[in-house]
Amino acid sequence: MILLGLYVHIPFCRRKCGYCDFYSINYDKDTAKTYVDAVKSRLSKIDKTFDTVYFGGGTPSIIGSGVADILSTVRFSENAEITAECNPDSATDEFLSTAAESGVNRLSIGLQSANDSELKLLTRPHTSASVKSAVERARMHNINNISLDVMLGFKGQTKQSLERTIDFCAELEVNHISAYMLKVEERTPFAKIDDISLDGDEIASLYDSCCERLSYHGYGQYEISNFAKSGFECRHNLIYWNCDDYIGLGPAAHSLYDGKRYYYERNLNDFIGGCQPIYDDDFGGRDEYIMLRLRLNDGLNFSEFEKRGFSFESGFLDRCKTLEKAGLLLIKDDRISLTHKGFLVQNSVLTYLL
Ligand code: SF4
Repeated sequence: MILLGLYVHIPFCRRKCGYCDFYSINYDKDTAKTYVDAVKSRLSKIDKTFDTVYFGGGTPSIIGSGVADILSTVRFSENAEITAECNPDSATDEFLSTAAESGVNRLSIGLQSANDSELKLLTRPHTSASVKSAVERARMHNINNISLDVMLGFKGQTKQSLERTIDFCAELEVNHISAYMLKVEERTPFAKIDDISLDGDEIASLYDSCCERLSYHGYGQYEISNFAKSGFECRHNLIYWNCDDYIGLGPAAHSLYDGKRYYYERNLNDFIGGCQPIYDDDFGGRDEYIMLRLRLNDGLNFSEFEKRGFSFESGFLDRCKTLEKAGLLLIKDDRISLTHKGFLVQNSVLTYLL
């Protein structure tokens, strides 16, 4: 069964973090209100029922009851997973109570590190104590499915400091942890700082420690960067990796619907003014499906692959066997998946494979 997800981009932040390349502008109450109305107006023309809804950003929590206001125009299934990204400083009772009442049942909070000196280096405005408080207050509003984001690979981070961060998440008993490697994007302030990230070997070693420590605390890895207690894998993100359909609304939001990809430009005023999405490309078919499925621990199942009408080109399975011998890929029954070592060099593995 093909699932349908909705992504709503909330392009406002209190201020820009040094490493961030997501599209967002400084928060302004009046502009945010106009934006919420523009999103609602577009949503009212979409006659669909969604299996998952995801408010990303930017900082969705910064618009307070705006998230609930938007959600009031969305039709979603009874057991839909509805996530809002949230920063500790804007996890107000107004945001949490209205979000919970409107159906938000999952929060994704940007922790990045539990060490306050590292948070300063990352130019994050919060502290670990404010994240703890946000998690506790979310639970008071009955939002119990909580994910924390952790960052890997910045200068000064050590195995010990990373373990402290993971232990902090485990002590808070959150259900899900995303551990992303720092990627220095050209147009961000971090691009102008020398030596802001660790070198490849150091990052690989931190990634190993991260996976080990998360496993020790009972978080199963289900994707290169995502770990969850059993049953709490993010259903919305699985839609992306399974190549199911999703509709994205907002500047910079991408969609895959009915075999077509399209996106909105990174321009808030154009979106508010009613611009149309730009057709990007047809769904990349077999190769794109292989690439996305191999991000998952489950990997690629041959019968599901064939059910989608795909077939392997000659030589593909021979290349899989070569990768298996190198310890980068597993072939088991009717499934292939990357090993831990394979995840670390995923781009090279895919280039060779495809
Ligand atoms: S990291 Fe999050 S809070 Fe910081 S600028 Fe980017 S979207 Fe905003």
